[in-house]
Amino acid sequence: MANIVVMGGGIGGVTCAYELKDAVRDEDRITLVSNKAFFQFTPSNPWVAVKWRSKEDITVDLAAVMPKHGIAFNSAGVARVCPSDNRIELADGSSLPYDYLVIATGPELAFDEIEGFGPEHHTHSICDVDHATRTNASWEAFCNDPGPIVVGAVQGASCFGPAYEFAMIMDADLRRRRIRDRVPMTFVTAEPYIGHLGVGGVGDTKGLLESEMRHRHIKWITNAKVDKVEPGKLSVTEVGEDGKPSKTHELAFNFATMIPAFRGIPAVRGIEGLCNPRGFIVVDKHQRNPKFSNIFGIGVCIAIPALEQTPVAVGVPKTGFMIESMVTATALNIGRPAARRKCDP
Ligand SMILES: Cc1cc2nc3c(=O)[nH]c(=O)nc-3n(C[C@H](O)[C@H](O)[C@H](O)COP(=O)(O)OP(=O)(O)OC[C@H]3O[C@@H](n4cnc5c(N)ncnc54)[C@H](O)[C@@H]3O)c2cc1C
Repeated sequence: MANIVVMGGGIGGVTCAYELKDAVRDEDRITLVSNKAFFQFTPSNPWVAVKWRSKEDITVDLAAVMPKHGIAFNSAGVARVCPSDNRIELADGSSLPYDYLVIATGPELAFDEIEGFGPEHHTHSICDVDHATRTNASWEAFCNDPGPIVVGAVQGASCFGPAYEFAMIMDADLRRRRIRDRVPMTFVTAEPYIGHLGVGGVGDTKGLLESEMRHRHIKWITNAKVDKVEPGKLSVTEVGEDGKPSKTHELAFNFATMIPAFRGIPAVRGIEGLCNPRGFIVVDKHQRNPKFSNIFGIGVCIAIPALEQTPVAVGVPKTGFMIESMVTATALNIGRPAARRKCDP
């Protein structure tokens, strides 16, 4: 019998636990460990911020669902991975041994890398459902007293789709409320051009998104580095092709939401051979860590190098479709007897 632990109850972790159930032997034990009692469908968080959906609409109680599938569930959260001992330490002080470990813990949101940035300071967030719920309260207050909006993604971000999506969601919501004309909108992004998306564009995303932004009267600043955020004011340096500052902007706002840079979670950061300096899990083409061969990584928590150099750093997005492929590869690789023998701890 093998003891398989999956860390993280998000899109990667939950789907991996399900797929593992089909891929491994009946006698193998699968445990899902998360730091929240619920699954959230992250792509719907932007809708929660404008109340097009509620938290209840887009979350699932994992403790109720997992046992029905023969998967044990623990919501204590992982405090530290101990790969040399093949165990994880949980935040409640207990310890869980594993034969195989799948890490799917998504990102830690690096708001602290910019002064005044993030939901504890002067900007809002849509990255987490509880952030999005809090954002909604501010959104309602903003709509009663509208003014300029700043939206986008900061330096080092690797998730641009939701920034564009949220700009257009706000535009649509403001139109419905018939107050769009009272809200100048500026899209601020680390991307070298609109529609780059961290991958050098996809088809004609540059043309399509520029046209859509013009159509919706959303101005933009690209190659942008956010220097700091103060109440109602975002300070931005625009960088030239050579990476040198070319212009500075002080943008007044009544409402600001920017996607932060991501990094790996503290439970894995600094473990040599397991992750890169930003705490992202290093994996090979089989989704397996080269040093600890019984550890696999999937989803936003894995290390993928930037696709091309850009004047301001941007990362490669890890989208749902990519995550599904990582999940299937991981489940089948752990399930295959030959792979088991090769990485037996
Ligand atoms: C706002 C937003 C919208 C997006 N929209 C789309 C979209 O439309 N299409 C698309 O393809 N992609 C989208 N993405 C990208 C991607 O699909 C999502 O980020 C997806 O949720 C990533 O899945 P994941 O499992 O890797 O990480 P997550 O969904 O972040 O899950 C990580 C899980 O690990 C848990 N965890 C964290 N720390 C610990 C710990 N210490 N111990 C145990 N568990 C822990 C978390 O609670 C969470 O349950 C979006 C991303 C964002 C932020």
